[in-house]
Amino acid sequence: MSTTSTAISWTDYTWNPVRGCSRVSTGCEHCYAERQAGRFSGPGQPYAGLVRKTSQGWRWTGEVRLIAQELETPLSWTKPRRIFVTAMSDLFHESMSEDLIDAILAVMALAPRHTFQVLTKRPARMMAYLTERWPSALAQSLTLSGMRRDRPTEPPGADRHRQILNAAERLLQGIGIKLSIDSHHQRS
Ligand code: SF4
Repeated sequence: MSTTSTAISWTDYTWNPVRGCSRVSTGCEHCYAERQAGRFSGPGQPYAGLVRKTSQGWRWTGEVRLIAQELETPLSWTKPRRIFVTAMSDLFHESMSEDLIDAILAVMALAPRHTFQVLTKRPARMMAYLTERWPSALAQSLTLSGMRRDRPTEPPGADRHRQILNAAERLLQGIGIKLSIDSHHQRS
């Protein structure tokens, strides 16, 4: 459960430079990653300490752990791949420092041959991060698209989230990232 090829239809490989998460919304109700982590959470196993068994099943403890030796893995893959980023966590988890998110995005930027697929249940933090770290790129993206309607204008809800993601997707197209909230950690 570190960096592996996958049977998921919409991606080729998973890349997990961080492990661990916590539930944030009803969208996490059927978290696949949490169940998978439970299978490998015994002493000495990769997810030890990251999940605990409860009467409702496995639950994340909330710890998010950097796996430093995985951070640069995509750079060693010479053939283009669709890569599911942080399949066993959430890149925009509240415990993820901006410096660590920067580092993960930097690896993506250094490997433009790949298509990186970042899925999050935390679109508000994602937008705050993008606004803080990439304001000029965000403005440029929206200007170049000529679509100010891309800015989120809907009240909170699915439509607003989709607009946020559409805007972010345009911003990050230049470094090959695709973002979605619809199928986070669900396999198809
Ligand atoms: S954000 Fe993703 S990994 Fe984290 S608990 Fe929710 S569904 Fe699971």
